[in-house]
Amino acid sequence: MSSLLPPVPPGTGPTTANVLIIGAGPAGIAAALTLARQQHSAILFGDGVYRNGRAEQMHLIPGLDGARPSNFSQAARSNVLQNYGEHISFRDVTVFSVQRVAGGFAAVDAAGVAYFGHKLILASGVEDLPLPIDGYAACFGSVIFHCLLCKGYEQRGGASAGVLAIDSFGRAPVALHMARQASSLARTVTIYTNGAGALAAEIEAGFCRAGGSAGIMRVDNRVIRRFVFLGEQEQAQGGGIRLEFVDNSLPADEAFLAHAPKTRPRGPFVSQLGLETLPPGDNDGDIKVELPYYQTSVSGVFAAGDNCSKMKSVAHAMLSGNVAGMGAASQIVAEQLGQVYTAELM
Ligand SMILES: Cc1cc2nc3c(=O)[nH]c(=O)nc-3n(C[C@H](O)[C@H](O)[C@H](O)COP(=O)(O)OP(=O)(O)OC[C@H]3O[C@@H](n4cnc5c(N)ncnc54)[C@H](O)[C@@H]3O)c2cc1C
Repeated sequence: MSSLLPPVPPGTGPTTANVLIIGAGPAGIAAALTLARQQHSAILFGDGVYRNGRAEQMHLIPGLDGARPSNFSQAARSNVLQNYGEHISFRDVTVFSVQRVAGGFAAVDAAGVAYFGHKLILASGVEDLPLPIDGYAACFGSVIFHCLLCKGYEQRGGASAGVLAIDSFGRAPVALHMARQASSLARTVTIYTNGAGALAAEIEAGFCRAGGSAGIMRVDNRVIRRFVFLGEQEQAQGGGIRLEFVDNSLPADEAFLAHAPKTRPRGPFVSQLGLETLPPGDNDGDIKVELPYYQTSVSGVFAAGDNCSKMKSVAHAMLSGNVAGMGAASQIVAEQLGQVYTAELM
C-alpha cells in the first residue's frame, strides 16, 4: 500500500508523515523498520542522548555483544536509511511539545518547526534519577550497575560485590534475586539495607527459608554516608567502589554494587498528552500501555522502550518498538478503510 500522505517535496526534509516517532534509539528505530516495511512514512526525532550513552559497551544483543552504543546507533540509522530512505527520515532536534490536532498529532522542535503525523510513537526513553546519597551519581554506570547481565561480568572474580537493597531492590525477593546474580561474579556478596532493619531481617530469613543457607551472602544494615569511586578496573587492581557509613565504622570496598535507581520518562510528553502512567513505586511512573500493541491511554499514541516497561533493555526496546509500529500501521489502515480497529494479536 502506498503512503497515505502526499509525496514529500525534496529539500529540507519532510515535516509530515504517517507516524511521528520521538526517539531514535533501539525502540524508535525498531518501530520505524516495522512501519517502513508496511510502506508507511515516519519521521524519527533524536536529541543525541541515549540512556546507555555513558557505557563503553553494550551486551546481551546477539551479534553485537560488546559493541559501542554510539556505533550501534549509527549503524542502525544507516541501515534504515539505506533500505528504507524513501519512507523514513531522521531529525536531530529536541522536540519541545506534542499535542493532539485534527487528524493526528503535531510536534514542535526547539527551533519552532512544526511536524504532523497521523499517529505518534513515544520511544523517548527514561532518565535515571540518582539516589540522593553523596557520590552515587558519579558511580552510576561505572561501578553501580542497574542490571548484572548488562554489566558486572567485566569486574568478575572480585573478592566481594554488593547489592543496594533500596528502591526497586528494596524488597527481599528482589534483593535476594540480585544477590544470586552477584554471587556468580564475586566470591562474597553483601546486601546493604541502609538502616532498614525489618528488610534486613526479612532478607536474612529468606536465606534460611525451607532449609536454605546464606552461602556467600550476608546483610549489612549500616546507614550509608557516601560512595567513593575507586576505578573501573578489577578489584584486585584497586578498582571498585567504597561505601562509607554515618556511624564512621570501617568502610566497605566492593568490586561493584547492584542498584537500579528510580527512573522517569524523558520529556514533557506524558503531561502534554495527559497519558496515564503507572503509580510511583509500582513501575516508577512508566507510561501505562495496553498489550499487545503498546497503545497508551490516548488513542493513536503508542509507547515503546524503556518508558513503558519494567524490563528496561535493548532487546525489549526493539520488541516493543516493532510491536508499537505494527499497532500504529494497523490503526492507520483501519481508519483509512473506515473499519473498527481492535487491538488483538493473532
Ligand atoms: C549504564 C547503562 C548501561 C546499559 N547497558 C545495557 C546493555 O548492555 N544491554 C542492554 O540491553 N541494555 C542496557 N542498558 C539499558 C538500555 O540503555 C535501554 O534499555 C535502551 O537504551 C532503551 O532504548 P530506548 O529506545 O527506549 O531509549 P534510548 O536508547 O534512551 O533512546 C531514547 C531516544 O529518545 C530521544 N529523545 C528523548 N527525548 C527527546 C526529545 N525531547 N526530543 C527528541 N528526541 C528525544 C533520544 O535522543 C534517543 O534517541 C543500559 C543502561 C544504562 C543506564
